[in-house]
Amino acid sequence: MKVWVLSLMLLSPFAKVDLNVDTSRLSAGDKAALSKLLEAARAVDDIFLTQYWSGNHKLLSELRKDTSPAGKERLEKFMLFKGPWDPLEEHKAFLPGVPAKKLPGANFYPENMTKAEFEAWPEHKQAEDFFSVVRRDPSGKLRAVPYNEEYKEQLTRMSNLLKEAAKLTDNESLRKFLNLRAAAFLSNDYYESDVAWMDLDAPLDVTIGPYETYNDEIFGYKASFEAYVTLRDDAETKKVGFFSDHLQEIEDNLPLAPQYRNRKIGASAPIRVVNEVLSTGDAAHGVRTAAFNLPNDERVIRAKGSKRVMLKNVQEAKFKAILEPIASRVLPKAAQKDLSFDSFFTHILAHELTHGIGPHTVKVNGAESSPRMQLKELYSAVEEAKADICGLFMLQYMIDKKMLPGAGPDTAQKMYTTFLASSFRTLRFGITEAHGRGMAVQFNYLLDKGAFVHNSDGTYRVDMAKMPGAVRDLARDLLTMEAVGDYKAAKEMLDKLAVIRPDMKASLEKLKDLPTDINPNHVSAR
Ligand code: ZN
Repeated sequence: MKVWVLSLMLLSPFAKVDLNVDTSRLSAGDKAALSKLLEAARAVDDIFLTQYWSGNHKLLSELRKDTSPAGKERLEKFMLFKGPWDPLEEHKAFLPGVPAKKLPGANFYPENMTKAEFEAWPEHKQAEDFFSVVRRDPSGKLRAVPYNEEYKEQLTRMSNLLKEAAKLTDNESLRKFLNLRAAAFLSNDYYESDVAWMDLDAPLDVTIGPYETYNDEIFGYKASFEAYVTLRDDAETKKVGFFSDHLQEIEDNLPLAPQYRNRKIGASAPIRVVNEVLSTGDAAHGVRTAAFNLPNDERVIRAKGSKRVMLKNVQEAKFKAILEPIASRVLPKAAQKDLSFDSFFTHILAHELTHGIGPHTVKVNGAESSPRMQLKELYSAVEEAKADICGLFMLQYMIDKKMLPGAGPDTAQKMYTTFLASSFRTLRFGITEAHGRGMAVQFNYLLDKGAFVHNSDGTYRVDMAKMPGAVRDLARDLLTMEAVGDYKAAKEMLDKLAVIRPDMKASLEKLKDLPTDINPNHVSAR
């Protein structure tokens, strides 16, 4: 995959990149199905623009008329954000003549509806679902309108395209999903097709429909349309399988008192690794998704669980556009060669899988509780740090046992150096949320143990003699904290380590002009 960072856009927080996927290995049937799915995905953009703001389509056609360089730039920014508001600037308008900020209810509710009015509406319970909008009838009374009515024209078109794609593909699980999703677009009942999506395992993979509810900032009820048209990454899928097969062995060898180890770990959520051909709608505005967990419907989760989908080429594009420039400033010259996307991505997989091991129940005075219940508001940061550090532990274990496929003499060095550089990427976003706090804990812990070293020229390096031991010690501290539900120990650790120290602050200051995210150009979808 080729990634370009255009110098023109270097000052924008969104680096322009080309996103490529090799579609040549698809069967002839899947190739034909792919073009139908791309067409359906483009129709998703149409619905999403309507959902995001009622004025979007009119504004877009005006923006398209202005072909001056400044006009083209405005259009591009509008398409990047799918509306006239900048998500990195607290959703403030960057165009004149529009609401000053994104509307909290987007276009899911009447613009002048208040929360109190909704709650006083006798039928409001029926409008608390994912798949309807709230409108006013001519007399001004609220009423719920299901998506299959509100977006009938586009959904009928998308339904037909999915049925055509279903006829073309030679994969049974894809055909089943497409036919059921095509029916859901018309019936507004998504349950069966969500279940079929959980079973979808095909070279050509698609996620299309109404899913996330973040744009409904009033209630978080209403789902926005999005689409990911992707191809399965077979090599990484094999790696996930290999790790999953060895998870019990890792659990049995965790640095944790044996009585806290889980003799039989539960089945973990399936992970699919794919490469994105095209994303649209809610999946393609503002900061780009590199991984997602779906579905959100609790009924499906109870029956089938949920699935994690990782977009490998999106991760790679972010790595090249963001992590490589960060590394060139925080690592010494001699360590640059150890920065590796393969190490980066393998550690992300290890992180996801090690969420599934370690303590998940806690005995408190004989009663059963969970680490989440016991560690309360500190839990998420502890658990994120645990997954990172146990991911490193797992990979080091596999390197030591000579089990890790493809490992060479420099694998550990690359893994730790890449982890060091990527900690700056996480810490740039601050320590207000769990991943940032968890990363600050690890960074400061490893620094205090001498496993990370601050060089006199301001760069950082890994002390390979100390790193595996420090990882093991931190894993033991975090796992034990979860196993006994030790809130006091967690509080002490986070108070001391979940902080940005002056040296780190100075280092982050030097990264300020680097891009924070990518603006992908889906080359293979053309
Ligand atoms: Zn995590």
